[in-house]
Amino acid sequence: METTYEKLVQECKRLDRLGSIGGFLAWDERVFMPPQSGDLRGEQNAALAELVHRETVRPEIGKWIDELEGQWEALSRPQQAVVRDARRDYDKRTRLPAAFVARKTKARTASYQAWVRARREDDFPVFLPYLEEQLELAKEEAGYLDASDPYDYWVDDFDPGMNAGIIEPIFRELQPRLKEIVETILADPDQPDKTALRGFDVGAQERFLKEVVRDLGFDFERGRIDSTVHPFCGGHGRDIRMTTRYDPDNPLDSLSSAMHEAGHAMYEQGLPDAFAGTALGSAVGMAVHESQSRLWENQVGRSREFWSYYEPKYRAAFPEPLRSFSSEELFRAINQVALTPIRVDADEVTYNLHILLRFELEKALFDGSLKPAELPEAWNAASARIIGYTPKNNAEGCLQDLHWCEGLFGYFPSYCLGNLLAAQLWYRILEDLPGLPEQIAAADFQPLLQWLRTHVHQRGRLTYTNDFAREVTGAELSPAALVRYLRERYLSLYSPS
Ligand code: ZN
Repeated sequence: METTYEKLVQECKRLDRLGSIGGFLAWDERVFMPPQSGDLRGEQNAALAELVHRETVRPEIGKWIDELEGQWEALSRPQQAVVRDARRDYDKRTRLPAAFVARKTKARTASYQAWVRARREDDFPVFLPYLEEQLELAKEEAGYLDASDPYDYWVDDFDPGMNAGIIEPIFRELQPRLKEIVETILADPDQPDKTALRGFDVGAQERFLKEVVRDLGFDFERGRIDSTVHPFCGGHGRDIRMTTRYDPDNPLDSLSSAMHEAGHAMYEQGLPDAFAGTALGSAVGMAVHESQSRLWENQVGRSREFWSYYEPKYRAAFPEPLRSFSSEELFRAINQVALTPIRVDADEVTYNLHILLRFELEKALFDGSLKPAELPEAWNAASARIIGYTPKNNAEGCLQDLHWCEGLFGYFPSYCLGNLLAAQLWYRILEDLPGLPEQIAAADFQPLLQWLRTHVHQRGRLTYTNDFAREVTGAELSPAALVRYLRERYLSLYSPS
C-alpha cells in the first residue's frame, strides 16, 4: 500500500511542476507581455492546458486512487486528505472534456484583453459578450461535474466545503455591524486625509517596501517583486512572483499591497514542497490564503506597534512629504476609512461591504434573476445601498475587477471570509504569543511567522475551511472576531463628537 501512496504523491508533485508553468505565463502576461501578443499567449495557454489535462487524466492515477480508497481505514488522517483531494481533482479533470478546457483557456485570454479595453475606455458593451461567454462557460463546467447548484460549485472550487448557504447568514449578520462601525467612524468631524501624502519618490518607495517585506520574512532568494497595474501574487512556493504598483501620491497603497501579497507569498513559501500537488502541500483554499495576506497587511501593518518601529525609517526615507504630518496624523491616515468606489483601494472596514455587493450580484447572475446586460445598473444600485457610494462610471463600477472576465465567479466571498479568519487567527495567536505586540514593535516577526508556519502553512489542506477555522482558531467561522478587531482598532481612533 505504501508504494501506491508514494507513487500517487510523486505523480502529484510531477503534475504540480507541469501545471505551475502556466502560472509563469500568466505572470508574464500581466507584467511584461507586449500588447499585441495576446493571441499567441492564448494559443500557448490552450496548448499547455491540453497537455496538462492529458497528463492529469491518465487512467493509472485513477486506479491508484481506487486502490487507496479501498484501504481507507488503514490510511492515516494526512494520507486520507491526500487521497480525498486526489479524488476531487481527478474527477474534475476526467469529467471536463479536453476540448472544453482548451476553449475555456482561449476564451479567458480574449476576455481579459476585452476587459482591459472596456475598462480603459469605460465601454461596458465591449466587454458584455465576453462576460456572457464566461458565465456560460462557468455554468457548463458545473454541469460536467453534475453540480446541484452551479454557483455553489464555484464557491466550493475556491474554498472546498464552502457554499452560498453557509456564507449567506454570516454576511447577513456582518452587514449591519459593519455599517454601525462605519457610521461611527464617519461621524467623527476630524477625518484624516491620506491624499495629503504626496510626492513620495517611487524609487525610495520600492526600497522601503522591499526592506519591510524582507523583515517580515519573505525569501527573495525564492521570489521577486515587480510592478503591475493590478497587484497579485503568482508563481510557485519555490519561485514566488509578487507584483505591486507605485504611485508617488498614494504611497500607502504600494506598501500595504506589498505586505498583503507578501502574506500570500509566505504562505506558499511555507507549504511542504515534498507534498506539492497534494492536499498536504496545498493551501486550504482562497479564504485561508486571504487570511494570511490580510493578517500581515492589517493586523500587523496597520498597528501602532508596527508604525512605532517603522515611522522613523519612513520619515528618513521621505523627509519632505512627511514634514507637515504629526505621528498621530500619519497613523490616522494609515487607518483612514472612507466610502470609495474601488475594492482594491478600500480600507479594511468598508472593504467587506464591497464583497457583500459582489456576492449578491454573482448569485443573481447565476440564478438568472440578473442578466449580464443589466449589470452596470444593478451594480450601481447595489453599491449605493450596500456601500453608500454610487459609481460615476463603469470603470469604477462593474468593470473594476478582473475576476469575472477570467471566469472567477464565486471567488469574491473568500476575501471577506479571509478577513474573518485573519481576525480569528489573530486572537488565537495572541493567546499563544502574549508578547507579540512588543515583538512587532521591535520588527521581530519571526515568532509570528513561525506560529503561522507551524499551525497554518505546514498543515497544508489537511482539512477544509470550516474545519480549519474550528481546529486552528478554536471557533466556528463567524463575524465575531472581525467585529471585535475593527471596534478595538477604529473606535479608539475615531469618536463622534
Ligand atoms: Zn489577496
